[in-house]
Amino acid sequence: MRLLSFNKMGKHAIGILKQNTNTIVDLSLADPSLPTDMNNFIDLGSEAIELVERIVKNSNENIEKKLSEIQLLSPIPVPRRNIFCVGRNYYEHAKEFHNSGFDATAGKSAVPDDPIIFTKATTSMSGPFDPIPSYYDTSNSTDYEGELAVIIGTDGRDIKKNDAFDFVYGYSVSNDVTARNMQHKHKQWFLGKSLDGYYPMGPVIVTSDEAGHPDNFHLKTLVNGEERQNSSVADLIFDIPTLIECISSCITLKKGDIIATGTPVGVGIGYEPPIFLNKGDVVEVEIDPIGSIRNTVE
Ligand code: MG
Repeated sequence: MRLLSFNKMGKHAIGILKQNTNTIVDLSLADPSLPTDMNNFIDLGSEAIELVERIVKNSNENIEKKLSEIQLLSPIPVPRRNIFCVGRNYYEHAKEFHNSGFDATAGKSAVPDDPIIFTKATTSMSGPFDPIPSYYDTSNSTDYEGELAVIIGTDGRDIKKNDAFDFVYGYSVSNDVTARNMQHKHKQWFLGKSLDGYYPMGPVIVTSDEAGHPDNFHLKTLVNGEERQNSSVADLIFDIPTLIECISSCITLKKGDIIATGTPVGVGIGYEPPIFLNKGDVVEVEIDPIGSIRNTVE
């Protein structure tokens, strides 16, 4: 199932994108007793997914809307907690970042021995087609990082790798937008990665039953139509079960948590000299089979 959030007269609403169409089912019209906030919907677990599958099967035009008629929000417009993120998690990107001089935490080796976990503030979240507000970046060094986002569906602590996929609710597309000079200057990456609006996500959450194994996902990032990143998600250094085991060994993972799994080679600081984003640039991140987000730099 493909879940999305949209703006309904200033409030959040949940829609289901119908398979191979540009039509959504507006859940608030189909069953007003269902939550309108995605966190509350995820709380209801697989029962709600099964209920909604029945609604979609029997839907009619009275509860449907054209995708072109709604304003999409991030599928989780207001995360309950910071977004968990992973640094240097694709081999070739680890090398390009290591060699760029922008990694103030760099050790001797480009490839980390253990996952590098940091977070982005909840207020960095933005919609799949929202502008990137680079005017907040006084260091003029805004860069893109196309990333697969994993959404947690079950609370868990000390989750073992073998069980990890049982805790995954679904997947989305995201861009871990980063102000590079701030990332470097403040040593910890939090500030440079947490500017307001620096985490566009969407357009949908594909639930794990429909998405299949993420090793089969493929990520591409384009800037003004030019391909910059092109990688299989199978090339992650620390795969999704390893990340879930690692994080949950320290912190209880909660329903609705988001893990941005890291970015492949091809970011702006990988170029010599670095190519940062400029006002008017259009950044698209596409993950097959989820969809794509497109954000214009303002
Ligand atoms: Mg990143």
